[in-house]
Amino acid sequence: MKEKLLAEFSKIFGGDGQAELFFSPGRVNLIGEHTDYNGGHVFPCALTIGTYGAVRKREDRKLRLYSMNFSGTGIWETSLDELTPCPEDRWTNYPKGVLWALQEKGYEVPFGFDLLVYGNIPNGSGLSSSASLEVLIGTIAKKFYGLDMLTMEEIAKIGQYSENHYNGVNCGIMDQFAVAMGKKNHAIYLDTATLEYEYAPLELGDARIVIACSNKKRGLADSAYNTRRSECETALQELQQVVKVDTLGDLSEEEFEQYKDAIKDPVRVRRARHAVYENQRTRKAAEALKKGDLAEFGRLMNESHVSLRDDYEVTGIELDTLAETAWEQPGVIGSRMTGAGFGGCTVSIVKNDAIDDFIENVGRKYESVIGYAADFYVVEAGDGARRLSK
Ligand code: ADP
Ligand code: MG
Repeated sequence: MKEKLLAEFSKIFGGDGQAELFFSPGRVNLIGEHTDYNGGHVFPCALTIGTYGAVRKREDRKLRLYSMNFSGTGIWETSLDELTPCPEDRWTNYPKGVLWALQEKGYEVPFGFDLLVYGNIPNGSGLSSSASLEVLIGTIAKKFYGLDMLTMEEIAKIGQYSENHYNGVNCGIMDQFAVAMGKKNHAIYLDTATLEYEYAPLELGDARIVIACSNKKRGLADSAYNTRRSECETALQELQQVVKVDTLGDLSEEEFEQYKDAIKDPVRVRRARHAVYENQRTRKAAEALKKGDLAEFGRLMNESHVSLRDDYEVTGIELDTLAETAWEQPGVIGSRMTGAGFGGCTVSIVKNDAIDDFIENVGRKYESVIGYAADFYVVEAGDGARRLSK
């Protein structure tokens, strides 16, 4: 892979292999969905698949950007003095946004670079290829501009800031945090309200993480996401009339049941119920994993999917077919949708000796119901973004 990237870099930008190599992972959220903007917990891990960058400093302020995943549009040439978002600039709005955000936050970005990008995670599928790309740029900037004070956590925040303000995507902190702070064979139990976090060993024994990508584009996702956010905000305000809480994540299940009548609309009750119960499930799931109780972890994953399907209503036939078919397969410990929903992926924990049949059976059923194929990735929890030795 490294040789291939360096060779491709030389082909595109000239020179002979003086580029430096960086890698930034994708991430999958194991449990804790739609809790991040409700002051709750999430439980993602970084993956061993992600986004590679081969990059070389320039003497001037030019940026030359090329993605092997979008090779048809060739080299994009721009400059550090032209950092304004523009839809025609397509994917380059992500790297440009991070360089803009760094400067907004007072970091000096004195010179440009030539960058070749290659991602082996699917784009737009909820494995956070966008956060992966942002944190890749932050990691390159830290090294190139000597920004030693810039911690990986700060890089995550800058990535989120750029996605929010440069790319206009209202995302929480989970994606960039998981990508920047990932640790091999660990998941991150993260409190999105405080950014307190803890690494939990992801000891899956004779099982692995299998991601099934629905290949359904998330057409509805953005507007539905905003609706869900505002439904939860309204439900919180209603609850605040009767109980002192800052977020839905502050409530236990019992407290929610006690106070839920303050929410004046049955749909909003279900939305808030998901936020509260999902947060508690995430806490229990992290504990189960600590105790090595994988069966309980899987059960909570399944419950999470049901709650996202019935209470939060963000699954859809594609993700339901993948998860519900997974539940019927032997050797499946747990399976649920992951990411914002409506399209994107499911995450399953499957016993090694059942993985081949799992992929075949779930794949066949999916294609017969939906009419096109799903893609499967057997993945591992990997380290966060970093420079690679050549
Ligand atoms: P997700 O983050 O779930 O993968 P997004 O829609 O948030 O989906 O981000 C996908 C976008 O990120 C792509 O359309 C592209 O603009 C950018 N991107 C991600 N990976 C790459 C890559 N390897 N090369 C160029 N652009 C990329
Ligand atoms: Mg994204």
